[in-house]
Amino acid sequence: MPQDRAALESLPGVGRKTANVVLNIAFGHPTIAVDTHVFRVGNRTGLAPGKTPLDVEKVLETTVPMEFMQHAHHWLILHGRYVCKAQKPNCAACPLPDICRFDNKTI
Ligand code: SF4
Repeated sequence: MPQDRAALESLPGVGRKTANVVLNIAFGHPTIAVDTHVFRVGNRTGLAPGKTPLDVEKVLETTVPMEFMQHAHHWLILHGRYVCKAQKPNCAACPLPDICRFDNKTI
């Protein structure tokens, strides 16, 4: 299997997000796959604002310290799935309200 994003993206059905997942999980590359949760959390918190998943990915690549890059997208996905949910974020259970820039927190 190719360890190159462009080679992976040339495969049928493989986009940038999937290529980043493969590079991260299978090969240990410090890539950030931006799914719907990462996209929402990045924009909502102000951590990584962007109009497209690629925009968010590029911002995260500059703001996430390299020591955390390997697992950052997992943490963001889990945070978005279980705490900062799409319909109603659970801000009362969130450890980040002091640094989150979302105007409509639920606390
Ligand atoms: S404070 Fe609320 S909106 Fe901000 S990251 Fe936490 S759950 Fe999401």
